[in-house]
Amino acid sequence: MSAHTIDIRIENEIASLPIDVLERYNVHGPRYTSYPTAPEWNDEFGADDLRSAFVEANRAQRRPVSLYFHIPFCEKLCWFCGCNVIINRDKAVSDPYLSRLKTEIGRFAASVAADRPTVQFHWGGGTPTYLTPEQMRDLYGHTAASFHIEPDAEIGLEVDPRVTTAEHIAAAAELGFNRVSMGVQDFDPKVQEAVNRNQTFDQTAATVAQSRSRGMASVNIDLMYGLPYQTIDSFRETVERVIELSPDRIALFNYAHVPSLRHAQNAFRRMPMPVGLEKFEIFRAAIERFTEAGYVFIGLDHFAKPGDEMALAQSDRSLRRNFQGYTTKAGSDLYAMGVSAISQIGRAFAQNYRDTGHYYERIDAGGLATMRGMWLSDDDVLRSAVIERLLCHCVLHTLEIEAEFGIDFAETFADSLEDLRAFERDGMVRISDDRIEVTPLGRLFIRNLAMPFDAYLRRRDPAAKPVFSKTL
Ligand code: SF4
Repeated sequence: MSAHTIDIRIENEIASLPIDVLERYNVHGPRYTSYPTAPEWNDEFGADDLRSAFVEANRAQRRPVSLYFHIPFCEKLCWFCGCNVIINRDKAVSDPYLSRLKTEIGRFAASVAADRPTVQFHWGGGTPTYLTPEQMRDLYGHTAASFHIEPDAEIGLEVDPRVTTAEHIAAAAELGFNRVSMGVQDFDPKVQEAVNRNQTFDQTAATVAQSRSRGMASVNIDLMYGLPYQTIDSFRETVERVIELSPDRIALFNYAHVPSLRHAQNAFRRMPMPVGLEKFEIFRAAIERFTEAGYVFIGLDHFAKPGDEMALAQSDRSLRRNFQGYTTKAGSDLYAMGVSAISQIGRAFAQNYRDTGHYYERIDAGGLATMRGMWLSDDDVLRSAVIERLLCHCVLHTLEIEAEFGIDFAETFADSLEDLRAFERDGMVRISDDRIEVTPLGRLFIRNLAMPFDAYLRRRDPAAKPVFSKTL
């Protein structure tokens, strides 16, 4: 590596990347858990629109159902957190919430044709294990009585090792949960202290061991790079300890620094933060080590063992992207309940109110708690497919897109292709007559590669206040 380039090894390829190119790619951009992205949704979309989406989905090909519940509670705030959370050590706060959530589940269930199978069910947060095992049993039982959950459904739970007991894991396994995802972020005590999240290695190892002994098919660990006091060497240690635990999947998130939206992040103001090249090096070194340890780099921020469903779905091009990140359940409608939950049903996105005040009011008034959303146009659906395939499969078969959408790819995406030529010169994509292929180097810049296909981003005033975090 010279002073002006950085060597990047992904799988068996080594690429030398000039540092000025790296800086050029470090721009504000979406993570594309949806297209169009959330800032484009509007509050004219309301509960009546969501009801129409329900009706339309039952009339259509009776697609399978995915369920998501948002459990917003945590005992303590991690300063970096970007989720919609309610911090309260008094667990009594969960009772009125669960009562509304169960009412909402009943309303959603009444709108889903009884013969539509539920193939995926996820509890996220917040911290779902903030609930007691009894509350978990009650909520799950209520749901199982309302939806037709398939015996082989993928049923996942986010857990926080600091508050999750062996009883929680036992209850989850008994109910049918078969995957757990746990936050770690970093094992370095100095980083943990700085971000207000003290979690010992032993706590995490115990939750992994309990999950395995209860037969969970998949264990995921979440990490985060870009946090205060992280260095390349300190994060290497964390990576080694994660490899020791041998999770089936790893999510390595890029810390999104948006203190104007997430005020708690102002706590980092006087702390040393890895930025620019150092932050990128932390990411690059982690990719190198995880792939060397046998993990497949799925792209963006995910790794999986080679036999894991996610890795298999990527190679057979059935992997999809939704609000929880990557999913192997293609073609299902996502019905999401709880505060701030986002549904994706047919051509509609619908998000619930973020605060319990409005959420309770709407549910108590007998309706749905939709705050905003969007109906997708034909152009949105086309671009969404292009972006999703690039992000999930790292290859876009343009002839397939032409056949599926009845378009001439080169004509429709002339501007995007022109923009992509610069990426091609930097060795990130290979463009041919029938495909756009992301190179191993390009996988590190996949958010950037998707951006030329985003019609809204193209129209956005470059001088306007950024609404997205930096891509690197
Ligand atoms: S435990 Fe998770 S959801 Fe709760 S504050 Fe920390 S990062 Fe946010």
